[in-house]
Amino acid sequence: MKPATMGISDSKQADLRSKIPSVLNNSVVVFSTNYLPMARINIRRAISLLLSGRAEPLDLQDTKLVWVLHSPSVAVEVPHHIRLKTTTAERLWKLPSVSRRELLRRDGHRCQYCGSAKQLTIDHVIPRSKGGTHTWDNVTIACETCNHKKGDKYLNETSMVLRSKPKAPMHPTVAFAEQFWQSREPN
Ligand SMILES: [Zn+2]
Repeated sequence: MKPATMGISDSKQADLRSKIPSVLNNSVVVFSTNYLPMARINIRRAISLLLSGRAEPLDLQDTKLVWVLHSPSVAVEVPHHIRLKTTTAERLWKLPSVSRRELLRRDGHRCQYCGSAKQLTIDHVIPRSKGGTHTWDNVTIACETCNHKKGDKYLNETSMVLRSKPKAPMHPTVAFAEQFWQSREPN
């Protein structure tokens, strides 16, 4: 029986050892001074922001979640959400220019007419020959067959339907905020 007991004790010790690093693997959502969720940051970075006074804990009414980090002498409570106390300069972000790679990502690597994932090309919704521009709101991923079928026609001259309205990629902060609030919506 002795080896078994040893085994349990060993795994318990391993469990204790792994506890602190696993807490440190968590991430904290950081909000701007005007309560816009901006990004997920490493818990260590959050502690540094809190200890230096650059951020404060943020309670989102329905949650009061904290992780407790123990050192030999103190226990530090780290909230799941923190808010910056000073305004940071808005990170500069330039709308990326239209590229095949970005377009494929936006359209989920699928033809936006038939859903095919094969032989993907770029289609101009308003044909270039009719003054259509090479801009985010006028380009879509289309398979070769659909692109050929649509040809030089306006969309309303065909029976084809777009699965998604072409639009420019969102500012990363706005995209994060949208995703954050959606993930908190009750099911
Ligand atoms: Zn297609």
